[in-house]
Amino acid sequence: MSFSAVIVAAGSGSRSGGPKQWRGLGGRPVVRWSVEAFLAVGADQVIVVIPQGDDDRAAEAFAGLDGWSLVTGGPQRAASVRLGLARADPSLPVLVHDAARPFVTSAHIGELLAALESAEAAAPALPVADTLKAADGDRVTRTVDRSGLWRAQTPQAFAPGVLQAAYGSVSVEENPTDDLAAVEAAGGRVRLTPGDPRLMKLTYPEDFAMAEILAGSRPIVRVGTGFDVHVFGPGSSVWLCGVEVPHSHGLVGHSDADCGLHALTDALLGAIGEGDIGDHFPPSDPQWKGASSDRFLSHAAGLVAARGGRINNVDVTLICEAPKVKPHRQAMRERVADILGLSVDSVSIKATTTERLGFAGRQEGLAAQAVATVEIPA
Ligand code: MG
Repeated sequence: MSFSAVIVAAGSGSRSGGPKQWRGLGGRPVVRWSVEAFLAVGADQVIVVIPQGDDDRAAEAFAGLDGWSLVTGGPQRAASVRLGLARADPSLPVLVHDAARPFVTSAHIGELLAALESAEAAAPALPVADTLKAADGDRVTRTVDRSGLWRAQTPQAFAPGVLQAAYGSVSVEENPTDDLAAVEAAGGRVRLTPGDPRLMKLTYPEDFAMAEILAGSRPIVRVGTGFDVHVFGPGSSVWLCGVEVPHSHGLVGHSDADCGLHALTDALLGAIGEGDIGDHFPPSDPQWKGASSDRFLSHAAGLVAARGGRINNVDVTLICEAPKVKPHRQAMRERVADILGLSVDSVSIKATTTERLGFAGRQEGLAAQAVATVEIPA
């Protein structure tokens, strides 16, 4: 069936913290979702009403698509719809859609066009499920009977010339919040089709989190590894994974020589491609002499957070004949969990020997290896 589509994308996004039509959703600008949906069902015209001066942004948003055209919008939604309608072929049915509802499908469009066989206008709607309260500020004044009340969504469909005629009889000062209202005012036959929660309108900034889930966006899981060695020297204790462990020797290093935290810091840096611990804390820099290594680990965790990421889990293996790690393992897990802001359950500390082989077997030094997984936004 031939029809035109007018997609209203002229808003300034005052409630959602900026123009949401151009914002990315699942890797595509919000408005592109609707344009693609209408092009996919073979709309004869896809007219997109945009804010003044946004033509270049629109061209970028619709790169690679054919069959759309742009109209500059007006100060209010109804004015923008009128301007879009003026470009639409009056001999065709027209569907008017809000760009802020990106999940329109061919099924929604098909139901609306079918509804026009017995009505002049149609819109998807959902029954009101929540109890409605009238309030004066935050003081409830009464409960409103919700029976017979529906939440109208878009797209809204109009038989040829019906919406043009309806807006022709509504004064320009009137600014209905949807287009069905203009036809209702003119006494037209209006029908409801089944609504869909996925036709949600992106109104507030928090709506985008829900929309990203509907868009199937998944964060990317990344893995990093780290390895570190320190040599034994004079002393009576070693620092391992943030815990001081009594021993017949100390570990030699510029900082506190905490092999476990150094390997773990490198694992986190590796997961986000941020170089290694030496890039961030050069051993040549005197300020890190004797430094407590939890600062290095916190810094790496901060870089993950700055990317909008979160640490999933970490796993450290300490490689030594002595000291015995097991008696201190739980304290180490708790310390690392505390530094990284993770649950203890997400932190593993293990130990192994090398069966007396190599430098660790000869107790010349101690090694640690670590793995970290992080999630960062797609
Ligand atoms: Mg080291």
